[in-house]
Amino acid sequence: MAQEIDIAPVSPERFRGVLGDDRYATFERAADEGRALLEGRVVWNVNSTARGGGVVELLRPLIGYARGSGVDARWIVIEATPEFFVVTKRIHNRLHGSPGDGGPLDEDARRLYEQILAANLDDVAGRVRGGDVVIVHDPQPAGMVPALKAAGAFVIWRCHVGLDHPNDVARATWAFLRPYLVDADAYVFSREMFAWEGLDRDRIVVIAPSIDVFSPKNEELDRDTVRAVLHVSGLLAGSIEPTPASVVFRRQDGSPGRVERRARVVEERPLRADEPLVVQVSRWDALKDPVGVIRGFAEHVPADTGAHLLCAGPDVEAVDDDPEGLRLLRESIAERARLPEESRSRIHLATLPMADETENAIMVNALQRHARVVVQKSLAEGFGLTVAEAMWKARPVVASRIGGIQEQIVDGESGILVDDPRDLAAYGRAVAGLLLDPERAEAIGRRARERVRDRFVSLRSLLDYLAVVRRLLGAN
Ligand code: UDP
Repeated sequence: MAQEIDIAPVSPERFRGVLGDDRYATFERAADEGRALLEGRVVWNVNSTARGGGVVELLRPLIGYARGSGVDARWIVIEATPEFFVVTKRIHNRLHGSPGDGGPLDEDARRLYEQILAANLDDVAGRVRGGDVVIVHDPQPAGMVPALKAAGAFVIWRCHVGLDHPNDVARATWAFLRPYLVDADAYVFSREMFAWEGLDRDRIVVIAPSIDVFSPKNEELDRDTVRAVLHVSGLLAGSIEPTPASVVFRRQDGSPGRVERRARVVEERPLRADEPLVVQVSRWDALKDPVGVIRGFAEHVPADTGAHLLCAGPDVEAVDDDPEGLRLLRESIAERARLPEESRSRIHLATLPMADETENAIMVNALQRHARVVVQKSLAEGFGLTVAEAMWKARPVVASRIGGIQEQIVDGESGILVDDPRDLAAYGRAVAGLLLDPERAEAIGRRARERVRDRFVSLRSLLDYLAVVRRLLGAN
């Protein structure tokens, strides 16, 4: 059974202070128009998971703010078997140009894919009425597009996956999916370069991903709270008196929670609050290059900066369907262990508890806020939410000039882009440069925050979606 996820409306009014009266007034006018256009219609979002991952992180606030603006936006998650997800993970990996598990996308795979989607169709198409708008997210439910069109809906396919330079593996995978998509009314990609070949150009729209600046991951935390969170979770040595046993927070549904779990940290000694910290927060994944982050820091960020490096990621034992996570964490630990004592003592690796996602989000928030410099030295990246998250917190970010990161950072202005993601010396130089020039670092951080406010917050995405809806419905 496909499942409908309840999302509470969230008033967009809270953005007035962030955007200023003029911009907020522009949004309000658009919201009026959106309500009128969508009167009597539902905007459905269909995807394949309600938990975890960037898409969920994006969707929740968008649906919440759309509902809070008076639009009847809803969310349906399809139900599928592990075999289906083996096929769709293969599709996902191959769209990133890598062979994934090496298995085929043959007629058997197609049959399985279509069977599962057909089984969900009654639940999904049964809810959708003619004239509704359906946003189908990513490859997993893409095969439902023809049936939804046949039900009389306006169908938008939203692709969150992207590759700067598609190879033959990626192209062959598009060819597998394309027949399902030809009839969609619009295609949304995160950047121009990610748009597939062979789709009608006139129906392609670019919408950058966005972050919810009021979520626990991004909400304001004052300096004392940041330190208390990092202290309680074992990431910072005690520097606060009296030492708190936990830090209280409020969840998005209003219920109270506490930061009380501890991160597991591999280090010689705990960090002190006054030590300049360089941070990368990422899943333990080869494409995030934690080993390069460690080696580059050790070899190219001089010890006399006094800086320490912290690589933080999720507790890999909590994620039992990600064997690669454990492997990459082990490789990172081994890389650190190989370093001379002097560099090793400046490098800390932390796995953050995942049992409570809000607690985890607040730890990430505190780490990003505490960082003097944030790094995202990825080798490939569709967008890189962590980059926008750190920029929103006015941190200077050093990141690779790849994928969607190039849309976020204007080099030298709102962050630093390193041309070759494997050039450890260039990455180290950029980090050291910011550490040694706090004024420049601060100016870059300030512009970074403005850039996120202007381009990458949830309301901006809603306006972009409204433009698509206007195009689709305006003609009718
Ligand atoms: N993240 C987190 N806890 C962690 C590590 C990462 O909440 O321990 C979050 C991070 O803050 C971001 C998301 O996971 O919101 C990762 O999204 P991104 O686009 O940066 O990379 P992806 O993991 O989707 O490749």
